[in-house]
Amino acid sequence: MNLFETLGRLGHEQIVFFQHRDTALRCMIAIHSTVLGPALGGLRMWPYANEADALRDILRYSKSMTYKAAIAGLNLGGAKAALIGNPESDKSEALFRALGRFIGSLGGRYIAAEDIGTTVDDMDLIRQETRHVVGVHQANGGSGDPARFTALGTLHGIRACLEYKYGHQELSRVSFAVQGAGQVGYHLIRALRQAGAKVFVTDINEERVEQVVNECGAEAVPMSQIYDVDANVFSPCALGGVINEDTLPRLCCEIVAGGANNQLESEELGTELDSRGILYAPDYAINAGGLMNSALELQGYHEDQALRGVARIHGIMTRIFGLAQREGLPTWQAANRLAEERIALMGRVKLPFTAQR
Ligand code: NAD
Repeated sequence: MNLFETLGRLGHEQIVFFQHRDTALRCMIAIHSTVLGPALGGLRMWPYANEADALRDILRYSKSMTYKAAIAGLNLGGAKAALIGNPESDKSEALFRALGRFIGSLGGRYIAAEDIGTTVDDMDLIRQETRHVVGVHQANGGSGDPARFTALGTLHGIRACLEYKYGHQELSRVSFAVQGAGQVGYHLIRALRQAGAKVFVTDINEERVEQVVNECGAEAVPMSQIYDVDANVFSPCALGGVINEDTLPRLCCEIVAGGANNQLESEELGTELDSRGILYAPDYAINAGGLMNSALELQGYHEDQALRGVARIHGIMTRIFGLAQREGLPTWQAANRLAEERIALMGRVKLPFTAQR
């Protein structure tokens, strides 16, 4: 990889590498942008096959975090961190505390949060060394696991999709095919079923499927058939890249709206969805509820504020769809434009010198 050429193209400000021999710490952090504020982003722990894979991962996801914070109206930039190691066997108190000290040394340019392979307990250990971390346990003044708020925000976004597509918001008149019944999927399915929606579900983990079938009354579908389900809404809540050349032609839905990150294998597929008349809810906008919730820890966490913030996702989606309609754009481009405009404008607001800074 030609590193500086790549950073220039993607617009990253900084890549940081930390290593600590005694704790076997190997971590890299990609800070995409701090124009809107400190760069907040998940710290994932993964046994990457090689360092280039880890770097590619954080370069891609840190940019999405910048856009997610921008469209959510937060005063935050975007970052992502990769801790190289196996989350099942390589965790220790010393590892996360050493990492906490390194994160502290960045002076708040990066704020860590839970991600794949890391937990609230890991964030608590980082918190012992630095205050530049969110997603710590409620007992330590944190907001805990953000998945419930991600699911709630996704639900607000889904209502905006229904309003735009069908002119009503009644979940009981609509069916859903949900891929993934993990933390976000579980909360979303539960809320959909409580509102009377018909829900089909699949998950690689059979226990997860059993739980939502028995507890919520969802209907199980084999993994390979989830794209073919005749439901109004396809809701990806598992992996990224699930809308690709193979799966897109199979979709029978009229709306794609779910909590997963990076649902489109490439942005052009968002244009293809649009030309087929399928309304796509841009993933980083509809799933911003978890970020909105965690970010409140930086100013003192109150759940009622989080609930109010997450409800704004309805309006955010409506703005995206309105712009897309007015300008004849696919929704992914409309979302990017709104995010980029806010970053550009707020960057200029900050230009006059003020002594308190
Ligand atoms: P999770 O690991 O709890 O759940 C993912 C679920 O998907 C698991 O139950 C897993 O078994 C299932 N799964 C994996 N591969 C599958 C496949 N091929 N087919 C069907 N199911 C499969 O993770 P989560 O926290 O619920 O996150 C889900 C998605 O939402 C991820 O893309 C994540 O990046 C995104 N997201 C999560 C949050 C959050 O607050 N947790 C916030 C924003 C975005």
